[in-house]
Amino acid sequence: MSTHVRHDAPVMDPRVAPPFPTAALPILQNAQLRKNVAHATDVIQTKRSLLIAEKKDWQELRSAAAAIRAHVLANLDTYLEQFESSCSAAGGTVHWARDAAEARSIIIDILREENATEVIKIKTMTSAEIQLNPALEAAGIHAIETDLAELILQLGDDEPSHIVVPALHVNRRQVCEIFARRMGLPDLADDPQALTAAARSYLRQKFLSVPTAISGANFLIAETGSVAIVESEGNGRMCLTLPRTLITLAGIEKVLPRYGDLEVLLQVLARSATGERMNPYTSLWSGVTPGDGPRRFHVVLLDNGRSEILGRNVERQTLQCIRCAACLNACPVYRQTGGHAYGSPYAGPIGAILTPQLERMHHAQSLPYASSLCGACYEVCPVKINIPEVLIELRAQLVDQERTQPARWFDPMYLGMKAANLAFASAGRFRIAQRLGRLGLRFFTAKDGWIHRLPSLGARWTMSRDLRSLPDQTFREWWSARESGRRKEAK
Ligand code: SF4
Repeated sequence: MSTHVRHDAPVMDPRVAPPFPTAALPILQNAQLRKNVAHATDVIQTKRSLLIAEKKDWQELRSAAAAIRAHVLANLDTYLEQFESSCSAAGGTVHWARDAAEARSIIIDILREENATEVIKIKTMTSAEIQLNPALEAAGIHAIETDLAELILQLGDDEPSHIVVPALHVNRRQVCEIFARRMGLPDLADDPQALTAAARSYLRQKFLSVPTAISGANFLIAETGSVAIVESEGNGRMCLTLPRTLITLAGIEKVLPRYGDLEVLLQVLARSATGERMNPYTSLWSGVTPGDGPRRFHVVLLDNGRSEILGRNVERQTLQCIRCAACLNACPVYRQTGGHAYGSPYAGPIGAILTPQLERMHHAQSLPYASSLCGACYEVCPVKINIPEVLIELRAQLVDQERTQPARWFDPMYLGMKAANLAFASAGRFRIAQRLGRLGLRFFTAKDGWIHRLPSLGARWTMSRDLRSLPDQTFREWWSARESGRRKEAK
């Protein structure tokens, strides 16, 4: 079997990605990928459970984290302005970007002023959200991912499938094949030491020679104008300290009021994300410091639909997210499909609510249905986002949208629901529908009493499971036959 990862890179732009069920189908048939995802999520979940069990005040910590995030959202304008003035006072330059196009052009202008042809990057979901890498390439600037997982994906022409562990769907054998092919190391061994040594020597040259860097942000601190980034490898710290110019791209919701709030947020983030007491590397910096670190520091604050989400009561909680990915690891749907089926950098339950909202409900409309509503995501979320509640709200909005579209009269699902509505509204019609259903299904029922294949919309059900045929008698028929038998006996 070939160890190549994939050359038909998944589409991660929600404006053009296929609907979730279409994208999920080939993945469900890829046993290796599903095995990789199940194994990795199991490992993280086990570590998380152990560390949460040892924290007796875990529920209080969750409540405190949720309260901080909700307070920020209720006062976002105040804290953003405070962040802008503190960061500027510390020597940083703050830019405001209304949407993805504006953010891309701000970043490209800064890099052009620096005469950059290359830029090193720390893992940032927000840059994937604004499709930054293709825009940089089009502007003649080559982006080099320095997070190990992101590097594997970049060299493998692949896309991230998990918020915290982007290459979670790739196994060690596949990593070895990618490095050997792209780094020109035909004899590379597939043990972790050899692979990390290869990545280290590849990246070290970039850290020492590329003078511009792009980062995301885990948190922005309004009080001090600081930016906080947590990571596991130290590559991020190289990006933050060695270049001459650093650009941080952050969603406007990332701000926290006080430095002291990190005490709560960093505890819940590390435990929920990687099952660690604290992240191996926590970098914090405020503006520029002469003789230490970058000489020029820019922060691009990205809105891109967030202010609209903020204005809605139920959906606002989406912005409390701290991107720990605990909801992905716990989600029975994500654990089967992995992240690529979501067609967006934000996968799993948080992606199912965030992506359609960032797209103003014009794209990614299948995502709110990519959930069984089991509630596992809500249970594990360290900031108590009620994801099922938001999913149901988004589904209601989509149904409202569909109600006004003339095309609905050609949609078999809509017509089927209309017919069901009609049948369920009257006992007489319901009885007729039952009889017709029983007659119709006889054509598809095998000798064992099961239906193995249905046509049209019904095929969606039978392609993954069998359906029991309708019984010869309904409960009402059985009951009235029983009652009339009893009456006869009594006579
Ligand atoms: S929704 Fe909650 S569990 Fe999911 S990534 Fe965000 S903070 Fe983590």
